[in-house]
Amino acid sequence: MSDGEDLVSRARSIFARLRDDAERQDDPGAEASTNGTTTPGPQDAPDVDEQADRSDQAAVEYGAEPIAEISDQEADDAGVEGTEARGDPHAAAAPPVETPVEAPVEASSPDPGLVAVVPEPQAEEPALPERLVDPDEIAEPAAVVAESDTAAVPKPPRVLPRVLAVANQKGGVGKTTTAVNLGASLAELGYRVLVVDLDPQGNATTGLGINPRNVESSIYDVIMTGTAIEDAIEPTAVRNLFVVPATIDLAGAEIELVPAFSRELKLRRALDDAAGDFDFTLIDCPPSLGLLTVNGLAAATEVLVPIQCEYYALEGLGQLLKNVSLVQNNLNPRLEVSAIVLTMYDARTRLAEQVASEVREHFGEIVCRNIVPRTVRLSEAPSFGQPVIVFDSSSRGAIAYRELAKEVSGGAPQRTG
Ligand code: ADP
Ligand code: MG
Repeated sequence: MSDGEDLVSRARSIFARLRDDAERQDDPGAEASTNGTTTPGPQDAPDVDEQADRSDQAAVEYGAEPIAEISDQEADDAGVEGTEARGDPHAAAAPPVETPVEAPVEASSPDPGLVAVVPEPQAEEPALPERLVDPDEIAEPAAVVAESDTAAVPKPPRVLPRVLAVANQKGGVGKTTTAVNLGASLAELGYRVLVVDLDPQGNATTGLGINPRNVESSIYDVIMTGTAIEDAIEPTAVRNLFVVPATIDLAGAEIELVPAFSRELKLRRALDDAAGDFDFTLIDCPPSLGLLTVNGLAAATEVLVPIQCEYYALEGLGQLLKNVSLVQNNLNPRLEVSAIVLTMYDARTRLAEQVASEVREHFGEIVCRNIVPRTVRLSEAPSFGQPVIVFDSSSRGAIAYRELAKEVSGGAPQRTG
């Protein structure tokens, strides 16, 4: 796992195997005839995922927020239109912004590889397997906990304060949802939590009920004009939970930072002034590996990587890990990947289960035991400007993020003062 290249090739072989399995399962002589319970997936499921995949790629190329991937089946279950559930109420506000692919390298730059990561071309999408079991036959647990780990010995809690970059250069994998809801759940446990919105789309900002039009100072001002971070911190409706908002100005920062002095360390220097006031700081990184994400990684001590339980979940992860080690070697030796969170787990598909167990097999104990299920409530909450624990406190998504918060914090005692 230490070597990004190695990881990419392992990821490829995992997914080649999953594809083979899926093809075998597509064979009408297989599963369907033996148990007779095969339920055809939604007619347009491959189209939905194709669309999502294209938008993922567009997100990497243009820095735009991708379309959410809510299955029509689930949208139907919840009595909402699939397209409504998928729509991102804020995506339209942002014009596409080109992320510089090759940034000019400063003479003083510690490593040119830090900002010159070109996304690998994606392979053609394989046919999705049909759902293999009748969804109605399975009662989904509120929070999914991996069986093999239920008896695991709890790790000692990490020392507070902690600064976690929530990063994965793929769009639509649950970074923002995790930053907002893990942040809110940690705050509910009594920790003082700061969410730093480092994505020009500003989804963490709006998801926490802040209208970017009404903010006086944003993360852009903090990074680009040296505004003190305290002047940009906004309270939220959740006690103990604060946010440094992002506005669309931040899209320009990716380019404006290129010639800036100490361009990779702007956020770290700003946070040095405030991170001590919070038990947890969660940095919601954009879906790219540009300078903003490098700033996030340089400012953090830990990286939390959300992984969506689907095909190609691990694609591109090698690039992220390579960047993490570049930042480790050049800017921030304390940085480590401390948590992988499996998101959008659909217990009705065998694929999700396979992805989860493969990820666990390869990454071991840094994979969080609590898995976030795919639920419509989690995708609806941001349009009400609320974390899911406020929007629907007893929903499966709320329970999952509460459990995740307990796991991530490890019950560390809150700091006094
Ligand atoms: P990212 O920040 O990685 O781009 P988001 O957190 O914005 O990803 O999630 C992408 C979309 O998927 C959003 O519309 C979000 O509401 C939705 N989503 C995220 N997690 C879940 C989940 N567990 N169940 C259902 N929808 C989800
Ligand atoms: Mg996001």
